[in-house]
Amino acid sequence: MTTAHPAPEAPARTAGIHHVTAIAGDAQRTLDFYAGVLGLRLVKRTVNFDDPTTYHFYFGDAEGTPGSILTFFPWSGAPRGRLGTGQAAVTALAIPPAALGVWLDRLAAHGVAHELPARRFGGETAVAFHDPDGMRLELVTDPAVAAIPGWEGGPVPAEHAIRGVFGVTLWVERGEATARVLVGQLGLREVAREGAREGAVTRYVADGATLGRVVDVREAGGFWRGATGVGTVHHVAFRAADDAAQGALRRQVMQAGHSATPVLDRNYFRSIYFREPGGVLFEIATDPPGFLVDETPDALGRALRLPPQYEPHRAEIEAALPPIALPEPPIAAAAALAGGA
Ligand code: ZN
Repeated sequence: MTTAHPAPEAPARTAGIHHVTAIAGDAQRTLDFYAGVLGLRLVKRTVNFDDPTTYHFYFGDAEGTPGSILTFFPWSGAPRGRLGTGQAAVTALAIPPAALGVWLDRLAAHGVAHELPARRFGGETAVAFHDPDGMRLELVTDPAVAAIPGWEGGPVPAEHAIRGVFGVTLWVERGEATARVLVGQLGLREVAREGAREGAVTRYVADGATLGRVVDVREAGGFWRGATGVGTVHHVAFRAADDAAQGALRRQVMQAGHSATPVLDRNYFRSIYFREPGGVLFEIATDPPGFLVDETPDALGRALRLPPQYEPHRAEIEAALPPIALPEPPIAAAAALAGGA
């Protein structure tokens, strides 16, 4: 149902997931896996704004479009996390259905063990695997993303490239309170329920979104509580079109009794954070200004970018960070030079 003139008090809603942020171990291994094996573009190499002695990597599509982004804090030597309730336990990445066979071959060629492809929710096929730190990932076939161009500059042919985030699966003890936040405060819509071995899953979608439109909530009652650490998701960020939309979403969250942080400037977006009642840390991030604010499209991710407050300390910061190299030349190009397919 639509109306020509939305009421002034129409609830604000998100356009889906903006990014997913996780904690990784070794920085170079993280680059090799996400840029090299999965073929995502490193769209920003910067530092953790709360701890500039560690990196913050942003991976995404050609320009780091909201919804395409996975980010990592590589904390070498930090304790490993424990998968459990109160977490975004699974991060799903969207591929066009025709790319499935190519991806099964690619995972095998890189020695990435995966489960058998599984059909679910009346159509999509999901392939589950882990990153080198044990983070749970899935490739999910999604006809809607075939229309989005893949990145031309990566090791995976553009038509088969991962387009971005499909969605996340939250593991919670009980689903009702989390559902109230997803539907009541973020404006998602419940579309399906499915029984599963590890607890019933309810699917919520952000209407109108292509990338990042799915949040699955698994009621994993009785499962142990998760612990944040290497190999686990730190938070899930949802999109706000601008500062006004973020303000409206923040008010909705606060009025529902949750406490949200003030707006924090993350250089590439502005953020607020709050913990949903199931225990998962949520962020609401603005689409602007985006990753082209301090680099040209060609240069994205090639040099260390620092926010203005850290620029005067660049020399010390660079000296403290481990040296890294992008996996170049792209693996597909290298294989072609060597006479491979
Ligand atoms: Zn974030």
